[in-house]
This record gives sequence, C-alpha cells and structure tokens, in this order.
Amino acid sequence: MFAKHHNLDPAEIAQADKRHVLHPWSDLKTMHTEDPLVMAEAKGIHISDAEGNRYIDGIGGMWCVQVGYGREELIETMAEQARRLCYYTPFGAMANVPAAQLAQALAARAPGDLNTVSFATSGSGAVDSAIRFAHFYFNCLDQPSKRQVIVRMDSYHGSTYLTASMNGKRRDWSQFDYARELVHFLPSVNAFRRPKGQSLEDFANEKVADLEAMILELGPENVACFVAEPIQASGGVIVPPEMYLPRCLEICRKYDVLYISDEVVTAFGRLGHIFASKDVFGITPDIITCAKGLTSGYIPMGATIYSDRLIKAISGENAVDHPYFTNGFTYSGHPVAAAVALKNLEILEGDGILEQVRDTGPYFQAGLQKLRELPIVGDVRGMGLMACVECVVRKIGAEPGEADMAVAARVDAHAQERGLILRPFESLCILSPPLIVTKEDIDRIISILRDSLIATQNDLIAEGIWSPPARG
Ligand code: PLP
Repeated sequence: MFAKHHNLDPAEIAQADKRHVLHPWSDLKTMHTEDPLVMAEAKGIHISDAEGNRYIDGIGGMWCVQVGYGREELIETMAEQARRLCYYTPFGAMANVPAAQLAQALAARAPGDLNTVSFATSGSGAVDSAIRFAHFYFNCLDQPSKRQVIVRMDSYHGSTYLTASMNGKRRDWSQFDYARELVHFLPSVNAFRRPKGQSLEDFANEKVADLEAMILELGPENVACFVAEPIQASGGVIVPPEMYLPRCLEICRKYDVLYISDEVVTAFGRLGHIFASKDVFGITPDIITCAKGLTSGYIPMGATIYSDRLIKAISGENAVDHPYFTNGFTYSGHPVAAAVALKNLEILEGDGILEQVRDTGPYFQAGLQKLRELPIVGDVRGMGLMACVECVVRKIGAEPGEADMAVAARVDAHAQERGLILRPFESLCILSPPLIVTKEDIDRIISILRDSLIATQNDLIAEGIWSPPARG
C-alpha cells in the first residue's frame, strides 16, 4: 500500500488538503469538513487511493489519460528532456527543439490549412488564446466591431475569466462575475430534451436556424466567432444531430464568423482519431483548440491551431503597425511538455490505439445502451470512448419534470464501493476511460455501473422518495 510504504498517514494528508487546498469546483459549505478521496498511485487503467483501495478509472483522470498510467516511455522522455533542456523562454523569436517539432506534428495532423500553433498550459488557456486571436484578427482587418462570441448552452470551455464566461452549464453560474457583454448563448442541442413529437430532423434544422438568427440579431458585423465542442463533453456528452456541425460551419462562412472547434476533449483518440473535427464530423474549422489528451495528462499543455488563411491575412506584408501578438505564457511550448506530447502521439499512432478505439468505442456504446432497460435510466448517449448515462428520477410528490439532481452522486458512491470511478454531474453519470481499455475492461465497467444504478434505484425506493415509472 502506497501510504504505508511511504510512511504517510492518509488521515493527515486529508486533513492538510481540507485545511489548505481550494479545489476547482470546491463546495465552500463542506470544504473544511468533507474528506477528500486522496489518490496516491496508478498503473494502466487503475488508480489507488492513499488507503490502498483500487479502482478502475472510468474517467481517464479527467478525459485525459489516453494511454494509461505509468507508461515508462513517457516518464523516460520527461526525464531525458528535463536533463537536456528543462526550460527556456518561448517569447519573441526563441525556439526549442521539441516545441518546434510538436507544432509541425500537430499541423501535419490537423485538417486543411491549420498549420500555425500557439501553445498554452491548459485547455482554458488554449480557448482564451483563440478568442483573443479572433479579436486581434478583426482589429488588424480594421473590423473592431466584430467581437461578440457565440456559444451554446451546456458547453464547457474553461475557467479563465473569459472562458468561464462562455460556459453554458447553468449550475456553474455562481457568485463569480462574467463577461456577459461579450458572450451569447444558443439553446442546447441536446436532442434528448427536444419537445415531445419533434423529429430529429426538425430539431437539427431548428438548432442550425438558431445560430443564423443570433448572428443576424447581433449583426454579422459585430460577431467574431462561434465556439463549439464537436461533442459537448462535461455538459453531458451531447452528440449533435447529423450534419449540424457542417451546417453551422456554412453559416459561419456566410457571415465571416470564425468557427472555433474546441477539441480539448475530442482530440487525441477519444473518438478514434487525432482530431475529430474533420475525420468524424467532416468540418475544417478556422481554429482548433486542444489540451488534455495532448500529453495524456502526464504534464499540462494546451494548443491552439490556426488556419493559414487567417495568419496570412495579418502577417508578413499584411501585418499592421505594431503587429505584436502579445499573447502567450511563460510556459508556452514548454520543452518537457512538448517532448511528452510528441512521445504520446507516437504511442497513440504507433501502438494502434486509434484503431483500437474505433473497435472498442462501438462495443462500449452498444453495451451501455443495454442499461436503458433500467427504470432509472432516461438516456444513454455518446461516441467512441466518451459516454453519459442520464438518470431520470422524478421524486414522489414532486412537480412533473422536477428531478432529483443529486442522483448521479449516489450512483458514483455505489460505483466506488464496487471499484469504479465515474464522473457524476447532477443526474448524469459520465464515463471517459483511458483509451487502452479492452473489451474485458469495458464489460467490467458496465457491469459495475449496472449494479450501481440498481443499488441507487433500490435506495430511492427504500427511502420512499421515488417509484419506478410504469412502462407502457
Ligand atoms: N474545453 C473543453 C471542451 C473542456 O472540456 C475543458 C476542460 O474540461 C476545457 C476547455 C478547459 O480545459 P482546462 O481545464 O485544461 O483548462
């Protein structure tokens, strides 16, 4: 056991955390009282806490540990690069070997003419840079009024001031301030929530029309960009209707609105391809943002990849006076992170992991679909190795439509007891396992999830707060 081996007292660690760490999305009511789950070590698809309990990591860290934990090649690469050159400034015309090679490798894999890369240290930084670029670009073209940003409800784009302002998950809107004057939300594209009787085709047409209507309402001369995750990940793994994304791209082109594809989750193999925009959804956006799986979570890194068309319009002979792109970070293109990302690409492609996901992904989705037979399950959706099981629990005595929003936390607690970690969000149980999961691992994940859903149903019935709906 890790804690014993390292002579650590898990209770002391938990105490230090509760007293001193302000976590992302911390519940301030319980931050000093609720014991954290202290993770201590991991290998392959398994993670162990400081008490020695072992779990299947059903969420791949946070949608990011693509190639699994403890890969010696990545660890060695890190050490080797740190020994050779641990860091040097990326500002101005300063380059380092792995960052230049990585930018070239990303350009070779990105669709169309997306050939220029700026590096960040997170997904938020990558998206923030994309929006800053959009504003910079239109300012350079003497169109300074083009600055409004269009996003969608249920989206998640990050946690900087600007990207947090672009998040469309209502529960995330808290006591913070937001740059609301800059950001506009389209209705959710979650087909599960479409009005009863509306066909999928009509729903898709309506969602596309929503985008055009908003551009026209704001005035195309005022809109800089549309930002969209190909599949809305943390908002509930919302797979858009067929042809929705290509049609949105057409509309953006029509009104000279930049299309920014936020691939922080969908890139690097989660859908069986390095980038999903073109290979899965058939679109070549103007800008792609990515992070997470870029380094399989071994070290922080994000990247924003820009179309040559945009760069050409504002650089070289087209550059304006004072043409400095004053955006970037001390650790942009960090050599150790870039070396890890290069090695990670080599593993994803060289070990056949992309092909594996194209085989295990459909198997995973088909297995999860069988959970629909449980009364607590309202919807099962996903693609590749990202999925969501949405529970629908109407409390006894509650108004129709009023749901028990904490139900996924109950499922997660049961799953943890059985050795699986999933990601609960309101009534959503989200899964995004490491890409190296085998079909056998998938069977085990689904079997634990099924047992946990049944245990949750039984608890709710026993507590007298829910009864299964009659099925007709
Ligand atoms: N964009 C998407 C689609 C994300 O899912 C996330 C994080 O979950 C981000 C951006 C922000 O990335 P980070 O947490 O690395 O800043």
